[in-house]
Amino acid sequence: SKLVIAIDGYSSCGKSTVAKDLAKLLNIIFIDSGAMYRCVTLYALNNGLISGDNIDQKGLKSALQNITISFKFDAESKTNETYLNGKLVEKEIRSLEVSNHVSSISAIGFVRKKMVELQQKMGETESIVMDGRDIGTVVFPQADLKLFMTASPEIRAERRFKEFQEKNENISFEEVLENVKKRDHIDETREESPLMKADDAVVLDNGRIGKEEQLNFIVQELKK
Ligand code: C5P
Repeated sequence: SKLVIAIDGYSSCGKSTVAKDLAKLLNIIFIDSGAMYRCVTLYALNNGLISGDNIDQKGLKSALQNITISFKFDAESKTNETYLNGKLVEKEIRSLEVSNHVSSISAIGFVRKKMVELQQKMGETESIVMDGRDIGTVVFPQADLKLFMTASPEIRAERRFKEFQEKNENISFEEVLENVKKRDHIDETREESPLMKADDAVVLDNGRIGKEEQLNFIVQELKK
């Protein structure tokens, strides 16, 4: 039967790593909902809809009708790659510039409405693991299993920092830490479906246990 697993939590606490491993193990689809908000943000940046802290809401609303987001499984990297209007944007959407604006874009009600609709459609027909901020609370409140992941801001910033270093991007640890903290703050305090643990979500502290242990734990939870 169809299985829906929701993984929520703070920025960079390892949600997508766990989600990917779990999807592989169960042979089901993994969807990174954050990538979708990042696509909208990239589109807004590329089309002059963001200047400084200002977002052209009217422009963004009509732009949403021109945005198509899709995922394609890449056999080589064995991961889903994100396409915006048919163009591979996996690298662009992870830039610090996109990261610095994505939480403001995600706080806008009509953006969330559209993304949630798309996400729900993806889970309608197939078994799915989706990670994000509101998957257990809003997108799939009836999910078979909900996880809420946590880790300290320093552990999380360290993880993102290493990713930037691997890509040879010249960004300081402090910049990354600041971005992580700022995004968490906006995500937690926004009016529209703020980041929070669903009542029936199981908490997983990623700072404490290793990858294998995490997967074992989740598989045990699934059996319950
Ligand atoms: O998961 P990731 O860190 O790539 O998400 C980027 C941003 O997108 C988050 O900081 C949050 O502002 C937003 N987001 C959201 N709801 C989701 C997934 C991501 O608001 N379900």
